[in-house]
Amino acid sequence: MTYSYVSHLECPVCEKTYDVSTIQQLCTCGSPLLVRYDLDLVRNEVKRSSIRERNHDLWRYHELLPVQHEDHVVTLGEGMTPLLPMPELGQSYGLNHLYMKDESLIPTGSFKARGAAVGISKAKELGVQHFAMPTNGNAGAAWALYAARAGIKATIVMPQDAPSITRTEVALSGAELYLVNGLISDAGKMVAEKVTHDHIYDASTLKEPYRIEGKKTMGFEIAEQLGWAMPDVILYPTGGGVGLIGIYKALQELKEIGWLAGKFPRLVAVQAEGCAPIVKAWEEKKERSEFWEQSTTVAFGINVPKALGDFLVLRALYETDGMAIAISDQELLEEQKHIAEREGTFVCPEGAATFAAAKRLAAEGWIGSDESVVVLNTGAGIKYPDTAQIEVPLLEIGESII
Ligand SMILES: *Cc1c(COP(=O)(O)O)cnc(C)c1O
Ligand SMILES: [Zn+2]
Repeated sequence: MTYSYVSHLECPVCEKTYDVSTIQQLCTCGSPLLVRYDLDLVRNEVKRSSIRERNHDLWRYHELLPVQHEDHVVTLGEGMTPLLPMPELGQSYGLNHLYMKDESLIPTGSFKARGAAVGISKAKELGVQHFAMPTNGNAGAAWALYAARAGIKATIVMPQDAPSITRTEVALSGAELYLVNGLISDAGKMVAEKVTHDHIYDASTLKEPYRIEGKKTMGFEIAEQLGWAMPDVILYPTGGGVGLIGIYKALQELKEIGWLAGKFPRLVAVQAEGCAPIVKAWEEKKERSEFWEQSTTVAFGINVPKALGDFLVLRALYETDGMAIAISDQELLEEQKHIAEREGTFVCPEGAATFAAAKRLAAEGWIGSDESVVVLNTGAGIKYPDTAQIEVPLLEIGESII
């Protein structure tokens, strides 16, 4: 049986193709590369019903993942996170079918584990021994830990004020870690210099083609969990936008192999007011975004001033009649508390922003009350213990609480 139906890599800009069994980074034209599969063969040879009995992890979709030999799979059990109904919260927004795809249950505490699992597995298959990457925290944590499991050396550069737990995760894994007094874009420049000088693998967002393949499994899972159907709207907290591009790619592939039918969901890119390059580009109907100066937000995972794949994100928004929207830090922090009170879930700040966007779009009528809506909570709130400010009374011994 064929484990993977991967066929080649393709440039979404100039359509040049590349071999999938040797190391590739960007296209010679500078664009990220996308992984392509022999979808006709998958359609003929793989039955949708055969998925059901498989393990509850993202490798259940191995035919549509790029790792060619099962022996190379590096896993910590990632994937098949819950798609939770949010009835109380939905009622407060005026939405009758609100769901949360909850990535807080995944290894390393964020959905970055999906990209790392597939990215590291493929790196192992390609014989990579050492890679470097810039990160806002969660991706570095996930890649460093999966690299440790694979026996691959990692060099990680992250902003000094990235969530401190992610720093601990990286350091504990034995990776080489540097903090930079700047943004992820500054870390990116240091990594670019390092990989050129040391001839090592560049695992920066979209500079290797496989992270997106891991993240796209969120799209497979949402479709399978809805009984092989698509929701009306999917909202996604967008930094580099890899997850959004991935979800759209997944749904397109499922449609192509005949496992899904109907209209694609309207995709919504949610950003923070302090860093909203995609929103600005979408409002101006542009094909690419511009660098966002002095970006800042408590939702650290979406503090990305300029994304390499911005044109792919914008393309997905335009093609699905979706949109882009920015949320203030104050709004997302209030929503984080509201969600915990209503549903008992402690979502990450990025997820909270995404719920705040659903609320606003429902109030404005952009989302109808009977539409099915999936919000991505991309990580665990407990990874950001200091972001939510709480006040509690401190008692002296012997004081009464009656
Ligand atoms: C990285 C990250 C995001 C943004 O993901 P992209 O796919 O790069 O846009 C959102 N939320 C969290 C928690 C993240 O760590
Ligand atoms: Zn190209």
